[in-house]
Amino acid sequence: MIVDIQDAPQKATRIFDRLIETFKEQNINPTPLNYYVWYQYVKGNIPALRQEMDAILNDPFGYNDRVGKRLYDTYLVDQDEDGSEFDRAFRRLIEVMIRKMDAWSDRLENHTQKLDECSTKLSDPKLNSEEIQRITNTVIDTASSIKESSLAVQNEMIHSTEAVQELRKQLMEAKAEALKDELTQIGNRKAFNHAIEELILEAQDTPESLCMILCDIDHFKRFNDTYGHLVGDSVLRYFANIMQKDKQDNETICRYGGEEFAILLANTNLTLAIERAESIRKAIQEAHLKRKNSSEPLTTITASFGVASYKGQGEDAKSFIERTDKALYQAKKSGRNCVIDEKNIESSQKPPI
Ligand code: GH3
Ligand code: MG
Ligand code: MG
Repeated sequence: MIVDIQDAPQKATRIFDRLIETFKEQNINPTPLNYYVWYQYVKGNIPALRQEMDAILNDPFGYNDRVGKRLYDTYLVDQDEDGSEFDRAFRRLIEVMIRKMDAWSDRLENHTQKLDECSTKLSDPKLNSEEIQRITNTVIDTASSIKESSLAVQNEMIHSTEAVQELRKQLMEAKAEALKDELTQIGNRKAFNHAIEELILEAQDTPESLCMILCDIDHFKRFNDTYGHLVGDSVLRYFANIMQKDKQDNETICRYGGEEFAILLANTNLTLAIERAESIRKAIQEAHLKRKNSSEPLTTITASFGVASYKGQGEDAKSFIERTDKALYQAKKSGRNCVIDEKNIESSQKPPI
């Protein structure tokens, strides 16, 4: 099933993750309708639904499929169609499910009527054995039809649950896509901003356990002017690949902007972070860049690096970035193609080139 949910809000993903857990814990059927009702409940935009659900959830057995359907009919069926694409996709799924459930309950009603008639006939004491046989056969046929329809409904349920999972997958992919830099396929500035906020929280009580490397390609404007932007783009991709090559699990590598990259290193001290920056610097300097489809060598590319370690105790992301950027600035001032950390800023004065 293809559902376009590129604009699905991140809030929806968070809500969805919570719902999957809640459904498991509370034994709620993972049907699209239940997902939708709960999704709207947690999203909280419909106060009356929220109030009623709060009351229902006071009773541990208060919520079931029937209650879900009633809440859907009462609060959600007439909702304006101006929600996100994700909401609309959900709604389409539910409508299909409801039509199928309605068809099933109509059929069930017919069967129930037939069984009622059989039961009335069977209470007649004047029945002969042939008539009893005929009625019994009708009962057996009806029972087997009920079984068949209920299996069909079960299959529908399985399919619609798969559709919900597919929606979720698409939502996750859309989210990952939004955090990726298109050119280099590594994290973008947004991914960096997310990561730094999270890592700072974790590093609050263990100062000097989180480090940042900021690096900036040297004289890249000159490189572009000489070889053109497309070759420049390939160099940016190449640079990203070099950083990714030895990436450890504790590292977040992002394109910070144009020809600037950032690495956040969790559980890493300044010395190790400097070593990591130094190894990238060397790898880039030693690369033999060539034009694609020709052996014409390109000039050597170098980059400058600033490294700093997070202070902890309430330092915010802005201040941490500024300190690292200061070290990078000093690396540029000191002649480029070098790694400067916050501790040797003062002793690194070299004439700039
Ligand atoms: P410095 O050593 O001081 O960093 O010099 P620089 O030339 O690298 O720095 P400057 O900030 O003057 O220029 C950055 C260049 O990076 C200019 C811009 O065209 C280039 N750039 C930024 N983003 C891209 C991109 O996506 N592709 C290409 N090819 N070039 C880019
Ligand atoms: Mg720059
Ligand atoms: Mg530059």
